[in-house]
Amino acid sequence: MRTITKLEFLKHCLKYKVGVTQKRWYVTAFTIPLLKETDLVDYHEGDIAVKADGLYAVLQKEDDEAVGLEFVKLSDYKPKEPLYRWTDEVTVDSDWLDNLQKEEVTSIGILILNAVAFAYPVGKKIPFLNKRGMKPSTIEHAIAIRLANTDEAVDGSISMAEAIQCIDGMNFLEFVGTFTNTAATPKSITAPKGARELKEKLFRENKDKLGDSVEVTKIANQLQAFDKEYLKDDPAAQAYFTGKATASRTKLHYFGGQGLDFKEGSNNLITKSLGEGIETNQSEFPKWMNDSRYASFSRGGKTAQGGYTYKILQRSLSSLIIVGKPCETKKGHKRVIEKGDFSKYVNRYYKKGEGWVLFKSVEEVVPFEGKVLEIRSPIYCIEPGNNICYACLSEHYKHSPDGIVNISAAVSSIILNTALKLMHNSAMGAATIELPDLAS
Ligand SMILES: [Zn+2]
Repeated sequence: MRTITKLEFLKHCLKYKVGVTQKRWYVTAFTIPLLKETDLVDYHEGDIAVKADGLYAVLQKEDDEAVGLEFVKLSDYKPKEPLYRWTDEVTVDSDWLDNLQKEEVTSIGILILNAVAFAYPVGKKIPFLNKRGMKPSTIEHAIAIRLANTDEAVDGSISMAEAIQCIDGMNFLEFVGTFTNTAATPKSITAPKGARELKEKLFRENKDKLGDSVEVTKIANQLQAFDKEYLKDDPAAQAYFTGKATASRTKLHYFGGQGLDFKEGSNNLITKSLGEGIETNQSEFPKWMNDSRYASFSRGGKTAQGGYTYKILQRSLSSLIIVGKPCETKKGHKRVIEKGDFSKYVNRYYKKGEGWVLFKSVEEVVPFEGKVLEIRSPIYCIEPGNNICYACLSEHYKHSPDGIVNISAAVSSIILNTALKLMHNSAMGAATIELPDLAS
């Protein structure tokens, strides 16, 4: 009897765009199916059939004479487990997908994302992105930097119609999150041994400094480092506790942190954790409640403020016209090119001799790391009247005279986002700022 391994089947599905483009495929592939005989009707190539003795791949008959589909047993499927896990490691090469140039060790999740969001809509135009923990913005960025300035895609760029297909692919996968997720482990939902003792020790040692938020942040950092060490080999924690989710664990297992209040300058330090329970005495209970009330207020009040800021920015900037011809400026804004900021300089001009040179890609920016460059900037644009030339702003706006409204929308969206964050989770942090950085 013909059989197939689960990786051979995955490769077949990805290569021939079968199964993986259908939502029902994911329902069987990433969950634990109940093995029982099902009515075998309306199957298509690439589907996974559930039978009492295991899972079967639905494939075209191999025999040239025979036409139609057959059920091919998935030989290495283990009952009571999902067929695939998003984090399963897999080694792939250019035979799997159009945008794979070389052999890559990746995860099944990253592989499928690359297929559905990149390789299927635009082939080789977006190279395989082998990056763990990709956010929608990572994918949008990969598309945006290749977007054509004209209706038709030329020289490997991406047309707007293709970009929409990429985003559709990403949205298609978003649906999968409604029925598969990373399972929690006992470790990921519990506190490490000695967590409370360490917290109490740190608070005891620093009891005279608790009014100073920098000192409190130092305590939080020590506790988070202790927690990180505990979770370092936990697969669920690696998926869950990144970024601000770390603050949630601090509140749950260590201490509530600096609560928000309507009174300026009040000390609302909550030293108990949610795990220890909310104290109902007169000094502690109001801190928890004020924190919640402040967050709720922000959601309403600050949202309105964000909307208002948007309106003001639109009104004050909407008369600015972006001119499609570079101005004659000889001056730019001096910047130190830092790692992490490389993509900001793509589509911007830097000064070289007496002229300006365009950064077309991140790769072109990288060699300038740590160097000071004069970047062409709207600050020094000498276009007369209420106008800015596109070259001082960004190459992106070459053909968008009204594009300034996008920029003002982006600015007010950052303001709005900051206000909304208070409703979800907030943690205080400390940063060291060098004075020269502020002044440059
Ligand atoms: Zn200019």
